[in-house]
Amino acid sequence: MPRRFGFVSADQIGRACRQALILPLLPVLGLPGSGNSASSTEKPVDWGYWGAGAPNNWGSLSPDFGLCADGTQQSPIDLTGYVENASAPALTFNYGGNAREVSHNGKVAHVEYGEGNTLTVGQRRYELASMHIHVHAEHQVDGQLFPAEMHLVHRKEGGFLGVVGQLYRLGDPDPVVQALIDAYPEPGQASQSGFTLNAADFLPADRGYYHYDGSLTTPPCTEGVDWYVLREIRTISQEQVNRIAALHNGFNHRPIQDRNGRTVFSTGALP
Ligand SMILES: [Zn+2]
Repeated sequence: MPRRFGFVSADQIGRACRQALILPLLPVLGLPGSGNSASSTEKPVDWGYWGAGAPNNWGSLSPDFGLCADGTQQSPIDLTGYVENASAPALTFNYGGNAREVSHNGKVAHVEYGEGNTLTVGQRRYELASMHIHVHAEHQVDGQLFPAEMHLVHRKEGGFLGVVGQLYRLGDPDPVVQALIDAYPEPGQASQSGFTLNAADFLPADRGYYHYDGSLTTPPCTEGVDWYVLREIRTISQEQVNRIAALHNGFNHRPIQDRNGRTVFSTGALP
């Protein structure tokens, strides 16, 4: 029985993956600690999602990538067996500003935000830094695979990062995702105007979420990332998934990682 990816078949994924290229090392999050460290003197390491640079090999590609193989709090994971926590703090978004820049380094697009877009979760304070999208999704829910996942990456006050994940299932096209697709500049270029990408528009009405302690899903797989995966799942069309994959030269997701006894908390309405 073929594995299903929220109605994207394994065959479809395979066809797209065969078109995938090995991606060069790139600071996916555009943040300190997300790229190669200054201590590395070797030539840049090619990591990616296919072939010799595929996720299962990341840990051996560079001494800086050791956590990708040896880490115990890695992301993404299958969000299952979660513990309901009705008293968990709400996600309080205070987003308002338009994106500052959309850049496309030839492999992946990043939407960069200026200061002033904050997220508060109890005593934790975060500031939105950037946003990007994976096809297909990285996190699973109860073993279910989804065709896409958006990541809103925040710097954490007094800490490392907090990432809000938004999952998509196949259905009607998402107008906000379409705005992102339309804003993609030519590879190697950056756009600073001509788009409206307010981060608030990517958020669903329901703010229930899954929470666990994880990592970057790209090398160097740094841990200390507070994950908040929204429970409400938005829709995306097959055409949009295909377009995003084409813009990234293939699918760009890391497989799920060992849970290693971590607890996943959830709060809010069931999807
Ligand atoms: Zn991501």
